[in-house]
Amino acid sequence: MSWRTNANLEWLSALRGVERDHPLARHTSFNIGGPAEFFVETRDPAELVEACIERGVPWLTLGAGTNLLIADAGVEGLVVRCVSREWKVEGRRVYAQAGLKMMRLARICADHDLTGFEWAIGVPGTVGGAVYQNAGCWGSELVEVLTEAEGLLPGRGRQTWPREDLDLGYRSSALRQGALRGALVTGAWIELRPGDGAASRSQMARWTAERNQTQPIRTKNCGSVFKNPPGDSAGRMIEAVGLKGAREGAAQVSEQHANFILNLGGASADQVSRLIERVRCAVRERFGLDLETEVESVGRWPS
Ligand SMILES: Cc1cc2nc3c(=O)[nH]c(=O)nc-3n(C[C@H](O)[C@H](O)[C@H](O)COP(=O)(O)OP(=O)(O)OC[C@H]3O[C@@H](n4cnc5c(N)ncnc54)[C@H](O)[C@@H]3O)c2cc1C
Repeated sequence: MSWRTNANLEWLSALRGVERDHPLARHTSFNIGGPAEFFVETRDPAELVEACIERGVPWLTLGAGTNLLIADAGVEGLVVRCVSREWKVEGRRVYAQAGLKMMRLARICADHDLTGFEWAIGVPGTVGGAVYQNAGCWGSELVEVLTEAEGLLPGRGRQTWPREDLDLGYRSSALRQGALRGALVTGAWIELRPGDGAASRSQMARWTAERNQTQPIRTKNCGSVFKNPPGDSAGRMIEAVGLKGAREGAAQVSEQHANFILNLGGASADQVSRLIERVRCAVRERFGLDLETEVESVGRWPS
């Protein structure tokens, strides 16, 4: 039976602040994506997601939209944009709600003379999105500092997951492809070492400057499109197959860093998806290896 019953549509339409057919492109760093059938921004995503589960309404949690390729036809059901941004510091332990940006959290940690989180200045997503895929940068990853996350597992209610339960690996987690698939993260605890705020801020400034020189940071993109295969770099392989600068419509493999795809202006999700496939085919043919995407495709794709 379809979830689109009168009762569900009435419930969705009556949600506080809800918008119908809300364009999602503006909520993604790619600036690509069709509309959300229903869209809400909330500081309490768990309450809404719990209600969606009970009612059988499909939902998608949206953080900062920096690792998403949303289909041109948009997303069915309710898109819940998580804007819960509270945080607290207790000695060496720091708690952040899922909607807080990693970059902001990196500065908060430095301001409290805590070290070990400077790398997060390079991750433009939220804490929730970072737990979802064990974000990392400059040779460090969230798994090294995260002690536990809390959230909601469909059918099991609100839970706290110690780091071991999250099964965090290279851009992967139990949420992305394991026992916690479909779960919502509402907050996370990290534990750091006592440090020197000024030194942390200098390190972050150095990394930011280096990044600005080597990656097309000021363009519309989603960061690295592909995961690096063990012992190699996706960017090197894409360059080797001659696809640096390749285009599909207004989507282009970056000339500066081949593991980035840029929206030059008005690119569709379909164009990006075709470019991704072209790259994967060329790399498979030359290296006999299937590149796995780091960016996640969501929404109503043509079958
Ligand atoms: C310029 C640029 C540079 C980048 N550099 C890096 C980098 O160095 N390292 C790196 O790891 N990543 C990098 N990224 C990718 C991105 O910032 C990370 O993957 C980030 O963790 C995504 O977080 P988000 O809030 O944007 O998630 P979104 O893109 O909004 O969502 C991604 C996935 O996470 C899920 N999700 C989001 N919030 C929650 C939640 N609260 N609970 C459960 N699931 C949730 C979504 O449903 C979706 O499946 C970069 C991106 C850009 C644009």
